[in-house]
Amino acid sequence: MMRHLGVLGGTFDPIHSGHLDLAAAARSALALSEVVFVPSHDPPHRAADPHASAFHRFALVALAIDGHPGYRVSDRELARQGRSYTADTLDGLHAEGWAPSQLFFILGADAFAEIATWHAYPAVLDAAHFVVVARPGTTLEQALARTPDLMRRAHPAPGPADAGASTRILLVEARTREISSTMIRRRLAARQPIDGFVPAAVAQHIAAHRLYQTPSSPETLEDNPLETDLHGGNTNIQGA
Ligand code: ATP
Ligand code: MG
Repeated sequence: MMRHLGVLGGTFDPIHSGHLDLAAAARSALALSEVVFVPSHDPPHRAADPHASAFHRFALVALAIDGHPGYRVSDRELARQGRSYTADTLDGLHAEGWAPSQLFFILGADAFAEIATWHAYPAVLDAAHFVVVARPGTTLEQALARTPDLMRRAHPAPGPADAGASTRILLVEARTREISSTMIRRRLAARQPIDGFVPAAVAQHIAAHRLYQTPSSPETLEDNPLETDLHGGNTNIQGA
């Protein structure tokens, strides 16, 4: 049987239960054999994001998926020097033998709404299927509203059976929990509990290393005191 790989990129600063809902929704809608979580590289020269080091963000993903068969974490963007774009990550997978039609890049509706600003847009859409999952606050209609030209390649998941080698935008109408990393960071900075929003092992690691205790990370602020984060941590945006 042909293998189908889900790829879930993100800052994961930190990973939370909404990310796990996202992976599960895409996996079940598309019968993916595996989902690989790919934490993004630290965007250089950015004061506000990410707040935890790549080491901790990677560790938190590993802890969150421990015990989930078929979930993996990859350091491919962390190991690379400089900024990593989704287009480069997908090209790296092609070089390892994956065909675009075997790859399913998973993202929330809020992230897809920005797709036209991504590096290598629109070519990046030919590098994998794009699996867009509804997120509380952003519907699938809103995800596509800014790029009406893409409507013709968008289909409810699992999409047409005769797709062949072409890649599609596959829409998943699922309910994921209304959780964001921003909300987790705010709660931690305010000394509020995060139980129920992240897996227990993630909460333990955050507490043990006292992560996200201040509203902004002092180490990155020192590096670049005047810079603000204009792009919500999305490393795909050109020139971000
Ligand atoms: P931040 O608040 O820092 O932006 P985030 O919660 O949006 O964090 P990211 O690492 O930015 O998390 O997101 C990675 C991917 O996961 C994106 O495609 C995003 O749309 C998706 N995602 C995150 N949380 C959810 C959720 N609750 N439901 C559906 N998709 C989600
Ligand atoms: Mg986000």
